[in-house]
Amino acid sequence: MSIKLIAAYFAASMQSVRPGASEGLHTLRAVLAVGLLTACGADPPVRLTHIAGTTMGTHYNIKLVNRQQELSTAQLRTNVDAILARVNQQMSTYRSDSELSRLNRNATTEWIGASTDLLTVIDAAGRISRLTGGAFDITVAPLVDLWGFGPAQSGHRVPTHQELQEALARVGYAMVLTRRSPPAIRKLDKDLNIDLSAIAKGFAVDRICEYLESVAVADYMVEIGGDLRVRGRNDRGAAWSIAVESPRPGNRRVQRLLQLHDQAMATSGDYRNYFERDGLRYSHTINPIDGLPVSHNLASVTVLSDTAMVADALATALLVLGPEAGPALAEHQRLGAYFIMRTADGYAEQATPQFDRFVSK
Ligand code: ADP
Ligand code: MG
Repeated sequence: MSIKLIAAYFAASMQSVRPGASEGLHTLRAVLAVGLLTACGADPPVRLTHIAGTTMGTHYNIKLVNRQQELSTAQLRTNVDAILARVNQQMSTYRSDSELSRLNRNATTEWIGASTDLLTVIDAAGRISRLTGGAFDITVAPLVDLWGFGPAQSGHRVPTHQELQEALARVGYAMVLTRRSPPAIRKLDKDLNIDLSAIAKGFAVDRICEYLESVAVADYMVEIGGDLRVRGRNDRGAAWSIAVESPRPGNRRVQRLLQLHDQAMATSGDYRNYFERDGLRYSHTINPIDGLPVSHNLASVTVLSDTAMVADALATALLVLGPEAGPALAEHQRLGAYFIMRTADGYAEQATPQFDRFVSK
């Protein structure tokens, strides 16, 4: 049996991106594959390295095929954690000393010096805001706070009409300007509050991918809280099998399985972070136009893109746009996108062709 055939033989198993589920299965298969390859007298066996931890209020998981024996897991972990710490220090609104929190507190309409990373994310956010007619908007923070989803943790409640109008007056992505040299940001309203929660996770994923490539790791899966990016092949020489989670309440289940090589993917849903009042569901994703949490029947949106940053932001934007405008924009822009809608008797799905071609049949 050739090495190629052995690899193909072991390629058939499913591997969830979520911790738990198929972990044992994966490890067992990896061990078997390594044994057979060694017996054939092939190249040194590939090693699957798994690094996991917590960051940004969620979990991260990294799987990589480490062909360089000198690169230790401990070193990789230290460097990954340093990247995550740096992104948090730049973009977290949960840290009062982060660059973003200081920028938010700086009540001025003058230019404020900023890191190029912050500019990169804010510029990317601006492009997605323009593409989606303001469905994505990083100045949404006053509304996020008002509904009790912000770092202030003020408790969930339905605000009054007056409160909503006051918060809406402080929202508008066009009120953020950026300048490259010297790098700076300008708020056209001195009280503008920026929230990068819907894009920073994706940026952090991309940063880790850049780091891995800089140390010649060409096969990896990097995931933070469901936003992920893969490159190359898994330890069995096959595409990375990536699960899209079902929005059904209860145990996490796989709704669709994708085979990805060089792609980023992010999912936004209304089913994880929400509160209920009087039978209504209020999600942490807020429509910046009317100030209301999304309340349509679109339960989840999954987007494929080249970078995790863009996938992350687009998933939130398409969720805000809803079950008609979301798929329409995805079709028009030829995005890889997958929508799950709640119906009277369960769920309905809709995918663009650019998404469908990666789905395991
Ligand atoms: P999801 O995984 O559901 O997309 P994210 O954590 O990526 O969740 O993004 C949701 C967060 O983004 C909210 O908690 C809020 O801080 C912020 N947010 C809410 N609505 C918007 C919006 N329309 N545009 C940009 N950011 C938003
Ligand atoms: Mg998101």
